[in-house]
Amino acid sequence: MRVGFGYDVHRLVEGRALVLGGVNIPYQKGLLGHSDADVLTHAIMDSLLGAAGAGDIGRHFPDSDPRYRGISSLVLLSRVEEILAQKGFVVGNIDAVVVARAPRLAPFIEKMETRLAAALRADPARVNVKATTTEGLGFTGAGEGIAAYATSLLLTKAPEKQ
Ligand code: MG
Repeated sequence: MRVGFGYDVHRLVEGRALVLGGVNIPYQKGLLGHSDADVLTHAIMDSLLGAAGAGDIGRHFPDSDPRYRGISSLVLLSRVEEILAQKGFVVGNIDAVVVARAPRLAPFIEKMETRLAAALRADPARVNVKATTTEGLGFTGAGEGIAAYATSLLLTKAPEKQ
């Protein structure tokens, strides 16, 4: 078993779509970034790569690379799953929390879990997403940005039968 941790922050700005866990969420602002700036998926990717001892998303998908401009982070998550598979790992489980003052995320959580699990070729029961506010404190409380934290457990894949 291997455990990993991930953290990410993106700034909220006008004129961008808000994408969290691969789900488009209606809101007057979105997250700024080179890709779709899906802060939740980024934190999860970093936790998975960390658990695998495979560095971080900046190493695999540098934001200086034009190929990743505007790309869906779920595509990158699928590539992370390929990296894990090559190293002989499968996802045991993922737990994550999105820190945002607004919008209310509860109605979208199950869809996020389903999309994240599909990108990882994993059972949705292995992916858990939570949301919280910071009671008005800090940059998330001020609505300046959204943060996400994630932990992942990886299991060593059973050797395939010959
Ligand atoms: Mg990011």
